[in-house]
Amino acid sequence: MNDKPRELRSERMLPHDTFRDKCVLVTGGGTGLGLATARQFADLGARLVIASRKREHLEPAAAELRERGAEVLPVVTDVRRPGSVSEMVEAALERFGSIEVLINNAAGNFLAPAEELSPGGWKVVIDIALNGVFYCTREVGLHMIERGYGRIVNVVATYAWTGGPGTVHSAAAKAGVVAMTRTLAVEWARHGVRVNAVCPGLFDSQGARERLWPSAEAQERLRRSVPLQRFASTREVADAITYLASPYADYVNGEVLVIDAGMHLGRGLGRS
Ligand code: NAP
Repeated sequence: MNDKPRELRSERMLPHDTFRDKCVLVTGGGTGLGLATARQFADLGARLVIASRKREHLEPAAAELRERGAEVLPVVTDVRRPGSVSEMVEAALERFGSIEVLINNAAGNFLAPAEELSPGGWKVVIDIALNGVFYCTREVGLHMIERGYGRIVNVVATYAWTGGPGTVHSAAAKAGVVAMTRTLAVEWARHGVRVNAVCPGLFDSQGARERLWPSAEAQERLRRSVPLQRFASTREVADAITYLASPYADYVNGEVLVIDAGMHLGRGLGRS
């Protein structure tokens, strides 16, 4: 039995050519979970489009993915702007001719008690994490419907249904994305488009570290609250994303796959 954490193991969960000739578009693909997911798709033969606002995130990520053997198109995109999303899809289609897989991973978040959250702060998170997901899904979805094939995986969080004190904007956005996932799974199945979501528990990323657990003490407190006493690795979450996008999940539709070591369960007495 191999007890090494997933991050340290090199074997693939899926066959190496699972996504050969498929174009996978990952929003927020230059950092954190998005980059880990793009790496995994690269290793499974995919051609990649990575999209986010900052060229300084995208270019080093694209160079790394090319070194792994993938064809990569980095596209500077702001998912809050429908026009920018249309340009992203146009650029992807011009380069690769089709988009088979969309991973809606981009998001923004920060801690704020609801009574201190300004309408502007609320709007910025909803614009990225809910409206942005719809703009990308709609624009790529139209193309997928036309071709009769598509796989969409959204990244949500368990506070969509547990509630997330300090993150009312993000919790509300993710709850909206869960509803969007289930609705479109039913609406678009007849077009050959499957829509699912992954729901990661805590994992370490620069974005989360800066905005959600800014001190080592805060991170340690959170770690101790996880039943398995550790954060997820981004590879563990990326495994679930590639699975849901793969042919091995061809009968899985409208699912929200939780990967949180059981953290959202059993929050009663006796648990820290
Ligand atoms: P991250 O590295 O900060 O990822 C966020 C990504 O979104 C960045 O690449 C960022 O790139 C991009 N982005 C932000 N605003 C954008 C915009 N307006 N347009 C386009 N792209 C934009 O954080 P992460 O922790 O890996 O998070 C990835 C996903 O996992 C998110 O959906 C998050 O909600 C979810 N999640 C995280 C955790 C956790 O513990 N970390 C737990 C549950 C769920 P630019 O700055 O270049 O735009």
